[in-house]
Amino acid sequence: MKNDPFEIALNTLRTAGKIAGLGPNAIKLLSQPKRIFEFTIPMKMDNGELRIFNAFRVHYNDALGEIKDGTRFVPNLDLNTVKALGFLMTIKHAVAGIPAGGGKGGIRVNPSELSEWEFERLVRAFIRKLPMKGAWIDVPGADIGTSAKTQAWMLDEYEEIVGFHSPAAVNDKPAEVNGTLGSMEATGTGAFFATKEIVEDLGLTKKASIAVQGFGDVGRTITRLLHNEGFKVIAVSDIKGGIYSKEGLDVEKLVEHVEDTGFVAGFPGTVTITNKELLETNCDILIPAAVQSVITNGNANKIKAKLIIEGANGPTTPGAEKILEDKGVTIIPDVLANCGSAIVCSFERTQGLTDTYWDLETVNKKLKERILKAYKETIMTAKEKDTSFRNAAWINALIKISKAMKARGWI
Ligand code: NAD
Repeated sequence: MKNDPFEIALNTLRTAGKIAGLGPNAIKLLSQPKRIFEFTIPMKMDNGELRIFNAFRVHYNDALGEIKDGTRFVPNLDLNTVKALGFLMTIKHAVAGIPAGGGKGGIRVNPSELSEWEFERLVRAFIRKLPMKGAWIDVPGADIGTSAKTQAWMLDEYEEIVGFHSPAAVNDKPAEVNGTLGSMEATGTGAFFATKEIVEDLGLTKKASIAVQGFGDVGRTITRLLHNEGFKVIAVSDIKGGIYSKEGLDVEKLVEHVEDTGFVAGFPGTVTITNKELLETNCDILIPAAVQSVITNGNANKIKAKLIIEGANGPTTPGAEKILEDKGVTIIPDVLANCGSAIVCSFERTQGLTDTYWDLETVNKKLKERILKAYKETIMTAKEKDTSFRNAAWINALIKISKAMKARGWI
């Protein structure tokens, strides 16, 4: 279980907790979730067959506020992953200064095997069966396999159950049902603000070359923003493979190409590369924004980038991080780099609770303020404690959470 996501999170808890001076009770309490719900959703399919789906919801820790975050619908969902993601959300909210606890949930299902009507029934049933829910208890957002549409169904089902409107009870819903503007782009936009700041701090210029793995919501948004800011994006990839251009890619044209063909491959004027080659490309900044554990003991020594921005969750294994640290590579960790959507989800709940809806400029201005504050707090702690940015971000988060647990009399 070397690369088990929950074990990795527990290891970071122990390392950062020790530097932060956390007591044994705080470590003990943070080593397991507050609540685990595991339930089944029996459902009659369109053809009359009865299928039983396994569902999960983990409330990891709610010392700082109500439980908040994503719902994942994937065929291989397991409790350990849900626990790890719930823990990461607890840390992410605290890093970003959001008064919320962390949770995660989902259903073991391949949505593409369901009809639209079966999918809607399943999403609505998930909300009906969730034992604890609501704006002050647990606010489910989107994640893999969910979208603005599923979140609108969740909200509608919740409001049917309680009998009144409650837009703050579900996140990542469309603006038409009182969602927030900017939620789809929030993670890439937040990572862009943090990248600009660290680039300046490291003395890199806009001549710095950039390689991005993943061209979905996160990868595409940050690539576009960096390109429009004048940076040179030399390589991009998706699940089918990558493309490279020494002179730099015209990212707006690339977006059109992906809209037409579905993938980055075949973009005119570029050389085809593999995902492995993309990670090892001769670039200054590497942005893994696809899946976990892509930078490992096996390739860390071949990474040429001086700066890694973790758009994805957990793209760097602990062994790889040690090798990169020894090489002097700076890593902006996932809990900081990709906390933009957590921030904007908290704005979405605030807007719903106050029934006041912000324009995109306001959302992005507040997102920038919030993520830069988190970034500055992280570098200050990294300097003070002479430790990595990952440890520093966790230290700040753990101190905030443990103070709240202490004030509540839990430890
Ligand atoms: P997405 O599904 O929109 O895009 C994923 C991209 O990665 C696609 O281009 C896909 O082709 C590519 N990809 C998938 N598997 C790959 C592989 N094995 N090798 C290379 N490329 C691969 O997803 P997203 O919303 O952009 O999220 C990307 C990552 O960021 C995920 O790890 C996610 O957990 C994390 N994240 C996302 C958000 C968010 O707000 N969307 C927030 C925090 C963290």
